[in-house]
Amino acid sequence: MNDPVLATRLRDFGVTVFAEMTALAKQTGALNLGQGFPDSSGPPAVLEAARQAIADGVNQYPPGSGLPQLRNAVAEQRDREYGTAYDPETEVLVTFGATEAIAASLLAFCEPGDEVAVFEPYYDSYAAGIAMAGAQRRAVKLTPTPTGFVFDPDELRRAITSRTRVLLLNSPHNPTGKVFDRRELELIASLCQQHDLIAVTDEVYEYLTYDDFAHHTIASLPGMRERTVAISSGGKTYSVTGWKVGWLCAPKHLVDAVRTVKQYLTFAGGGPFQLAICEGLANQREWVEQLRLSLQTRRDRLSGELTAAGVEVYPAQGTYFLQIDVRPFGYDDTDRFCRELPLHAGVVAVPSTAFYDSKETARTLARLAFCKSEEVLAEAAERLVTFAKRG
Ligand code: PMP
Ligand code: GLN
Repeated sequence: MNDPVLATRLRDFGVTVFAEMTALAKQTGALNLGQGFPDSSGPPAVLEAARQAIADGVNQYPPGSGLPQLRNAVAEQRDREYGTAYDPETEVLVTFGATEAIAASLLAFCEPGDEVAVFEPYYDSYAAGIAMAGAQRRAVKLTPTPTGFVFDPDELRRAITSRTRVLLLNSPHNPTGKVFDRRELELIASLCQQHDLIAVTDEVYEYLTYDDFAHHTIASLPGMRERTVAISSGGKTYSVTGWKVGWLCAPKHLVDAVRTVKQYLTFAGGGPFQLAICEGLANQREWVEQLRLSLQTRRDRLSGELTAAGVEVYPAQGTYFLQIDVRPFGYDDTDRFCRELPLHAGVVAVPSTAFYDSKETARTLARLAFCKSEEVLAEAAERLVTFAKRG
């Protein structure tokens, strides 16, 4: 990217890989295992609640902090699931998706030149949000092992400097599927306290964990509530990624800071959808559990078929995603693999290089989204296996 009209701090950013890959899927008619969105909509009662809210005239600006019904529902959910109590009046802020919550937090907390510690690979909007704030990212590598991705505690310690302001954590983690365990969270928490960092945690896949893995919020650890901004959204939990209803929970002084930014980015939006997500948070726990089980089965099938065909699949403990090694397909460059896969096999994947600073580490990794229907996944798996076996 070398666009002279784009501010220097954003010149590394072009079109997001998700937009690019979804466009490629549309253009080629390929099955889209690229962008992480489900191809069916969420709980009927949640969809109906949105229609009803529009019919009832909930169509003007919601309050800047979000509708009080949703702030109450979020506070109840955090308390019920994690034992973290927040005052819905002052400690919950509704945002335009988790994406806005993350960007507004970075803009609120970072001075130009400050540093943000982040685990690599990382979700693409993190690098952009850090750059918008004029801050620098310091990446700590997640390395694959047979039982999941791990980090080196010393590398994390080295990544934190006197300039570090925020530790940006995503668990369950996109794209590795890693669910950070308690021991790892305790280490991260102790470093946040030792260096007086704010923990910004992206928990959008909080319900989508598999096998015996469970999500813990770092805000529930001793000494962390007062320095954590816990972010989530309704998109993944209720299969409504296009609604962009997100939220954050944090002590009042942190919420006040983020609200200052947020009110000048979007002020507020999505009133009817905010009300509909209340229905989800209050009454759809069983639906979400069925979604989780179904995603686990879909993960197992896709992973099983690819493994049986000799493709290395990295174990995903949560989220919508698994990563594969592209070498069994005859490629050693995932960018080329992902560009050519729709043409040769009728499937779209995302090159994991989009999530890494060190492109070399991700050179042979691609991400597949398994949040698609059983039929789409079965057909995609067959196409991938045929492609892997060709020649
Ligand atoms: N964080 C992660 C890790 C994601 O995968 C996504 C994609 N949905 C988001 C944030 C964005 O969430 P939202 O759609 O609520 O803005
Ligand atoms: N979170 C989705 C993914 O990781 C993409 C969302 C987007 O397109 N920005 O695939």
